Amino acid sequence: MSAQTPPTLLKLAMQALLRDETLDMSALDKLPMVFFPALFKEALTGRHTTTVKAMVAAWPFPCLPVGALMKTPDLETFQAVLAGVDTWLQRKFHPRRGKLQVLDLRKKHHEFWSIWAGAEDGGCSAETTDEQQVVKVLPRYALRRRLKVVADLCFRPRADEEQRCFLQWAHQRKGSIQFCCPEMTIWAQPIHIMKEILNVFHPEHIRVFELNTHWNVFLLAAFAPCLGEMRNLHKLLLAPISTSVFKISNRTTDREDKCINKFISQFSRFNCLQHLSLKSVYFLRDRINQVLRCLTTPLETLSITYCHISQADLNYFSECSKLSELKHLDMKGVPLKALDLMPLRVLLENVADTLLSLDLKACRMKDSHLTVLIPALSKCSQLCKVNFYCNEFSMPILRDLLQHTANLSKMNLEKYPAPLECYDEFGYVSIERFVQLCAEQIDRLRVIRQPKCISFATHMCPRCGERCVYGMGSRLCLCQRRQR
Ligand SMILES: [Zn+2]
Repeated sequence: MSAQTPPTLLKLAMQALLRDETLDMSALDKLPMVFFPALFKEALTGRHTTTVKAMVAAWPFPCLPVGALMKTPDLETFQAVLAGVDTWLQRKFHPRRGKLQVLDLRKKHHEFWSIWAGAEDGGCSAETTDEQQVVKVLPRYALRRRLKVVADLCFRPRADEEQRCFLQWAHQRKGSIQFCCPEMTIWAQPIHIMKEILNVFHPEHIRVFELNTHWNVFLLAAFAPCLGEMRNLHKLLLAPISTSVFKISNRTTDREDKCINKFISQFSRFNCLQHLSLKSVYFLRDRINQVLRCLTTPLETLSITYCHISQADLNYFSECSKLSELKHLDMKGVPLKALDLMPLRVLLENVADTLLSLDLKACRMKDSHLTVLIPALSKCSQLCKVNFYCNEFSMPILRDLLQHTANLSKMNLEKYPAPLECYDEFGYVSIERFVQLCAEQIDRLRVIRQPKCISFATHMCPRCGERCVYGMGSRLCLCQRRQR
């Protein structure tokens, strides 16, 4: 549409309606439903707060996915939406059939708007769509007595104005509205505040829960019952905010043991967990097997990173039926040097038909460890992504690994450590040798398979803290760049 195209009748009608400051609910109740989405979008974009409020109260569709239109925060318009809900709650009679059942505040794309208000030139005209049709094609929501308000929440130490205003509003209306938070992320909140919030946003509606916390094991145990109530969780991420959190001495006290057991036992209450991510959770050493035994559903993602695991933990990997359909395994920063990797090999064999990504970066593996894994790796035919950066492999074993990847035709991102032969006796990298050896590896690989994105990286340079990378994203560390 060119800038010269005259506005359509619908557009003119909407502009006239928005200019009319006296537009009230009785007028809106008579407005054909099909006009609502486009008019609401205009009102919201133009910050016509009185109209926004009136339109929310008169909204004729079962769902109002307003968050999709409010990606840029605007407190005044947001408050107008909430005020509209209040008016809606106070209305004794709602004349429309498809009256509002769900207010969706999630700032995510929602196809409602592309269906009903996508076309600027009035793609949904009153002549072609009648109200009966409109109601029929909308998603069927179960008959609910209470209005449901859906919002994703991220709690940072300093809440933004919009969230603060929303939480206060929600707290005061928890008796009359059902609040749902499908995705909740927490950054360092006091436990009593979290308990208050979960009193409004009931844990059973949470599908994704991310807890970045500074709580110790005693506080985690106090929070455990809330976690256990998150029965419909699909994805759980637990990580301490600083590395000192959760760190306990080698011998835990009875009290600490009880707290940890109480926390872990909640994992048996998740009915549909698919993705589990535990980062730097030190107290899980020797207890990962306990966690896995508690699971009730097969995992798609297992991410245990930056912590120590025991041989007993690893042994259970090969037996655990809940890992048999794994798609993503991330063990970044888990030292494997002192462990027998045979159970990991068995796990990789078990998931050879499903595994899509494998991250064994910084696991401190040596040639002998990779030798154990290679036969299983060569069978993982679905693998698209591997990361072996920061392990200590020699040129012959890397060559062997790459030669065994002939069948991994789906691989589109592969990261390997620079071979040990690139370093001098003091651990400094020789750039010439690094470039030459990596180029040789890639040439040899090209004979059996066409790599898409492949790279080799050195350890972190002890002088500048950067790596040298060869292949995709080639670069030298800061000191090497200065030397050239
Ligand atoms: Zn450097």
